[in-house]
Amino acid sequence: MANQRRLADNTNRYEAGHRGAPRKGIALLQGLAVCGQCGRRMTVRYSGPDSACPVYCCLADRNQTGSSLCQEVRAPAVDELVARTLLKALEPDQIAIAIAALDEIAEETRSLEKQWALRRERARYDAERARRQYDTVEPENRLVARTLEKTWEDKLRLVDEIEQEYRRWRDREPLVLQAQDHAALQELAENLPAIWHSETTQPEDRKRILRFIVQEVVLDQKKIRGQVVIRILWQTGATSEHQTQRRVQSYDRDYGELELVRERITQLNAAGDMDRQIAKILNDEGIRSARGKLFSYENIWLLRHRWGIPTAKINGVAANPPRWPDGTYSVQGAAAAIGVTAQTIFDYLAQGLVHGRQSTKGQPWQISLSSDQIDQLQRRLQRTRRSKKGAS
Ligand SMILES: [Zn+2]
Repeated sequence: MANQRRLADNTNRYEAGHRGAPRKGIALLQGLAVCGQCGRRMTVRYSGPDSACPVYCCLADRNQTGSSLCQEVRAPAVDELVARTLLKALEPDQIAIAIAALDEIAEETRSLEKQWALRRERARYDAERARRQYDTVEPENRLVARTLEKTWEDKLRLVDEIEQEYRRWRDREPLVLQAQDHAALQELAENLPAIWHSETTQPEDRKRILRFIVQEVVLDQKKIRGQVVIRILWQTGATSEHQTQRRVQSYDRDYGELELVRERITQLNAAGDMDRQIAKILNDEGIRSARGKLFSYENIWLLRHRWGIPTAKINGVAANPPRWPDGTYSVQGAAAAIGVTAQTIFDYLAQGLVHGRQSTKGQPWQISLSSDQIDQLQRRLQRTRRSKKGAS
């Protein structure tokens, strides 16, 4: 019950725009992801049929112009990389180095602490002495009494000031680790991979661990085509930059990936590239199809059909010429040469009476036709016509 209330509080705080406690869900960088394009904090939305696929979204520009979003980054690959980097940073060796560094800082802190102790003690001693001097003065000796009272007040004020200064310094100083902390940290480091991957570890626990170590993670998938650039800002103030391959897990899920694929296919198609070439170009650009696989020309064909992108004909939008530059006939050309309808040519093609090829599905036919074949087909045609006449 108390937990539920706490959860609701956290959710509200989060929705009020604050960096609340981790929410439920599987997006590891919830509340930590920052848009590398515009610097805004990214939100998480869950896409896909069961809302099982988290996506980090930058909602910039949507409200102002109603145009497309700044960027959306699929979470799984990014989360995986950040988790891997985190566990690497927390390997026992790394922890040992960190502890050694903390020990040095702690040593420094202890020596400063000694200096502070002397200063504070001195101030209190001075104030106490001023009080005693004031006490010894006869009340009749008003002038002296007033001077000593003033001195006492000044000394007290100084004690206050030094105490305040000391507290401010204390707050700024990093935590001093005790010996038992060292042991606990080392043990945690040794167990962390197991804890992290354990089935009983909740996503919230992983987020909590991450937040101890990482301040924010800047995501940018528009910087390098086909890659997500990930910059981790660690709690220590250090940054590290990483990259992960973008994947098109499912064509209908991820807006960002989908847009890129659609844009490229439209461009390449318009430039006259065949599906097979388009597949090769996308693969070369590092864009991956479902589950990280290479694109095949069937993928491209399917996507073009789904999106209603017609094949750019080899002769553009113009009508097919009777003959192609290589001497082959178009369907229309063959029809005219033999003296039949275009539909008859399609029938011939289907029956194997003429032979042709298409560079790919949807492209015009290129029919090989010698003058002998044309003669044969015409004679065949006359025979059929005669026999039909005879039959009727
Ligand atoms: Zn943005």
